[in-house]
Formats: sequence, C-alpha cells, structure tokens
Amino acid sequence: MIVKKMQALGEKRSVIREIFEYGNARRKEIGAENVFDFSLGNPSVPAPDAVGEALIKMLQESDSVSLHGYTSAPGDLGVRASIAEYLNKTYNVGAKPSDLYMTVGAAASLSACLSAVAGAGEEVVVFAPFFPEYRVFTEQTGASLRIVPADETNFEINFDALADALSEKTAAVIINSPNNPSGAVISEASIIRLAEILSAAEEKYGHVIYLIADEPYRELVYDDIAVPYVTKYYDDTLVCYSFSKSLSLPGERIGYVLVSPTAKEHDAVYAAICGAGRALGYVCAPSLFQKLLPHCLGMVSDLATYKLNRDLLYEGLSSSGFTLKKPDGAFYLFMKSPEADANAFCERAKKYELLLVPGDDFACPGYVRIAYCVTTEQIRRSLPAFAALAKEYSL
Ligand code: PLP
Repeated sequence: MIVKKMQALGEKRSVIREIFEYGNARRKEIGAENVFDFSLGNPSVPAPDAVGEALIKMLQESDSVSLHGYTSAPGDLGVRASIAEYLNKTYNVGAKPSDLYMTVGAAASLSACLSAVAGAGEEVVVFAPFFPEYRVFTEQTGASLRIVPADETNFEINFDALADALSEKTAAVIINSPNNPSGAVISEASIIRLAEILSAAEEKYGHVIYLIADEPYRELVYDDIAVPYVTKYYDDTLVCYSFSKSLSLPGERIGYVLVSPTAKEHDAVYAAICGAGRALGYVCAPSLFQKLLPHCLGMVSDLATYKLNRDLLYEGLSSSGFTLKKPDGAFYLFMKSPEADANAFCERAKKYELLLVPGDDFACPGYVRIAYCVTTEQIRRSLPAFAALAKEYSL
C-alpha cells in the first residue's frame, strides 16, 4: 500500500521550487535576461579549477575498477584520514577517521544524524529562521520539531525563548551557521552560552542532548568573520558538513558527519549513524567524489563574486528604503517585507519580474529571502526593479 505521508511529501513541491518553476516559464516567455530570479541556493560561481584538474587526472591515471567501486560503508578509510588530518590542522579537533561518516551531502548527514539520535515522542529544537527540510528529516524519525522563534535583532540565538523549548523530551538541537536564510553567523560568545545551557539541560534531564551543527556554508563568510568550530565548545556535537557550497558541487552529493571525538556516547552514536545510513540506503557515498576530496580540502570557490553581489544588493536595497541587515555569510539576504504578509509582497514583486521567497517556509513570516548566488549582472539589472517596487510602498 502506498504510504500516504510519503505520497503527500512527494506531491507537495517546496515553495522555493514553485517559484523557480514559475521563473522557468517566465524565462521562456520574456527571455532569461529579463527575469530576476533570486529563488534558488544553487552556487553561481564555478568549482575551483583544481577540482576539474584532479578529476581528469584521477580518470586518466587511476584504475577504473577501484575508482568507481564501492568504498567501505562509512567511506574510504584514506579519504576519512585526509579529512581528519585537515580538520585537526585547521581547527585542532583531535579527529580520527573513525569519527567520520561520508554521506551524500548535508541533507543525508542531517537525516542520518536525526535518525540516529531522535525517535518517537522526542523533540528536536530548531531556531527560526531555519532550512525547511529540517521538518521533513525530523518527522521521518517520529520525533517532532520544537521551534524557537527568531531573535529579529540579529537572527542569532533567541536565548530567552530557548529556555522554554528545552525539556526532558529534547533529543537534539540544530544550529546552522552561516545561516540559510538569514546569512547570520553565530558568534563565539553565543556558542559558549548555548553550550553552557545544553550542558546544564543534560545534567537536569539525565540524558545526552546532541548539538547538530549544520555547516554547508562554513567557508562562505565575508570581512574576516570567524565561524567557531562547535566541537571545541560542546562535547556532544555532530557536525554535518557538505562540499555543495564551498566547492560549488551541489549536484555531486558529497559531504560527511563528524562525531565529536569528545562525545560522551561516542562509539554508540557513531554506530547509530552508520546504522541510520544503512537503514536509509546511504552507505558508500559516491566513490569518485570521495576520492577527489584529499586533492581539494581547504579550497573554496571564488568568494569575491558573492561578496561583490552581497555588497551591491545590500547598498541598492538599503538606498531604496528596504529594511535589512548586512549578512555576514552564506549567499542569502533576509529582508523585512514592507507589508506584514510576505507572500503578498512576493506576489507584488513578480510584477517587476523579481522572484523572492517568502520567509514563512523558514518559520519567519514577514521576511523574504533573496539568494544572491546569481550573476553580478543580474544584481545590477535588478536594482531599478527593486527601486520601483519600493516606490509602490512609499519607502
Ligand atoms: N542545510 C542547509 C542550511 C542548506 O541550505 C542546504 C542546502 O541548500 C542543506 C543543508 C543541504 O545541503 P546538501 O546539498 O549538501 O545536501
């Protein structure tokens, strides 16, 4: 029998996808250059040249059977050793290959971690605004989401509301820094405070509470902003990393989970992540792209373009009268809608061929997300349209 819950998930397209499909139709009608599509978080900057060069070399020089063969279920040991060495050199993590589980991107990392540590009747705490798929990944485990409302002053952590959200049911807390959709980076002081609160909650409720650090945008930061490495502050941390954004490889589906070497139930939780990967059918992440990683660790696609886009857009929108905070990282800008209903605002923006995403899906109504991983030319050409839209609201 068809599982209705899954059918419903498959039939309901995400709002972002709906807008993107609308953009495709408009591109056909009026030409791609006349549509200002800011809907998708698909990197617009190519992967570093070294990625293509390494792939060609591997294909030319390696034995194809071993290159394309299955790796061990949690990932190739040599690849995991290289990643551990890189993390230790860069963040002083103390990681070993046996702390790492290779996955098909951050989505699979999150799904495996949540399946490993959360179950029926338990809760996973998330901070608005958050990536909408957290709900899907959490609910497939039988657990439910507990949403902490946004701190609209800086989109960091709303500590006042966090106290109410934690309970004996809390299995895990997810943070995402740099953040999709706000672009906010959680400061070291906030991570320290969060770690203290979670440690006290572990003590009070007598069980481990996992801090899941969703980090596909770790390297996408501007103006020398530091992104603290969370395992240093909280022992029971699971890092969900992906190369989708840092290396502009979203379609290749490659990432990993790092179980903090200091996690109290380290071996059991690592085994549970391997088990969840097995149950979900995620074992043995793509072999070619696993083996590419040792050649590319620490490389990042050209950040200068994203920074230029951010600066142009921020200046343009601010001078048109919109209310927004300059994002520190990722490639999203989260702007206050000039009318309370962000859906109505996004509909009105379509008149100017501006495709924006309402914040409602990110659990933050009254805001819109603008993905600036587009060409700089698109940003420049869209600014008069934003100015005309602002005029409609007398900003
Ligand atoms: N987490 C966040 C916050 C994201 O924005 C995304 C993708 O956009 C993901 C996870 C999933 O990333 P991946 O492509 O590596 O599965």
